[in-house]
Amino acid sequence: MRPFDYYRPETFEEAFRLLALPDKKVMPLAGATDLIPMVRDEHWQPDVVVDVKGLPGVCDVVETPEGLVVGAAVRMADLVHHPLVNSPRWNLLAQAAAAMGNEQVRNRATLGGNLCTASPAADSAPALLTLEANVVIRGAAGERRVPIAEFFLGPRKTALQKGELLVGVIIPAPPEGTVGTYVKLSRRKAGDLAIVGVAALAYPHNGGYSWRLALGAVAPTPIRAPEAEATLNAGHDEAAIEHATKCAFDACCPIDDIRASAEYRKAMVSRIARRAIEGVLEKLP
Ligand SMILES: Cc1cc2nc3c(=O)[nH]c(=O)nc-3n(C[C@H](O)[C@H](O)[C@H](O)COP(=O)(O)OP(=O)(O)OC[C@H]3O[C@@H](n4cnc5c(N)ncnc54)[C@H](O)[C@@H]3O)c2cc1C
Repeated sequence: MRPFDYYRPETFEEAFRLLALPDKKVMPLAGATDLIPMVRDEHWQPDVVVDVKGLPGVCDVVETPEGLVVGAAVRMADLVHHPLVNSPRWNLLAQAAAAMGNEQVRNRATLGGNLCTASPAADSAPALLTLEANVVIRGAAGERRVPIAEFFLGPRKTALQKGELLVGVIIPAPPEGTVGTYVKLSRRKAGDLAIVGVAALAYPHNGGYSWRLALGAVAPTPIRAPEAEATLNAGHDEAAIEHATKCAFDACCPIDDIRASAEYRKAMVSRIARRAIEGVLEKLP
């Protein structure tokens, strides 16, 4: 493993100065659960890493009028146990965090690292897509917000520009009565990326329910399944559920990798979508 310099700045000014060091490959670092294996295996060769965990506000979880603000360096284990994240409104994120990795990994891995790695299988992504979160990005020129659906550009590609950091996500408070479920299929119960991950969410709307469905690990980025959502919005009897799972099947375009073939993923996405939808139905009054 090639050595690199490590810095842990306590101000954003210092972080942006380091990120702009000339002639150096500089990478942000949070929990290091992706970064260190990638450096060890020489896929990434940073000269300098900038640890974001000392920056103001990035380890905080706070409720604001805009919704729940979760700092980029909040660890998955914190999300699993945090009372606000576990409240009925945002519990889907706690479920996704609990499904991620194993206890050792969750004790280091952060929400920001999970999003910035931009794996199509990132467990937090389907939950944040259905919760319609915005990511907060900061650079030397200022701060901007991007809907999570526009943050993922492809495998390991995000809307972050060079020198920018993810500082957190803002998750609007979903309507009263919202329920959600995250269902993950993986090779092992713990410590493995999803073969398929599905988040489903429903809330009371116009005398019925409005649905959101997001799929992970079955396309170059985590995606919403709008046709499936429209089907469920019109009703959720058996025929509608069956059609929605067919829509989820049609929405995905997976690849073969070491975890599963594309064919297996396609076959499983309908089943996992069904489990997620039924999981939501069980929680509805
Ligand atoms: C054994 C094991 C099991 C795993 N299981 C799962 C799993 O089940 N589900 C899953 O989704 N993932 C899994 N992972 C992958 C990984 O743990 C997660 O993606 C984790 O959330 C990454 O967060 P981190 O804080 O460790 O990121 P880091 O490794 O520190 O960083 C990851 C990437 O994000 C960048 N980055 C980090 N923070 C910021 C920021 N604030 N701004 C800009 N860029 C930033 C880094 O430069 C790097 O490119 C697993 C990993 C291991 C080793």
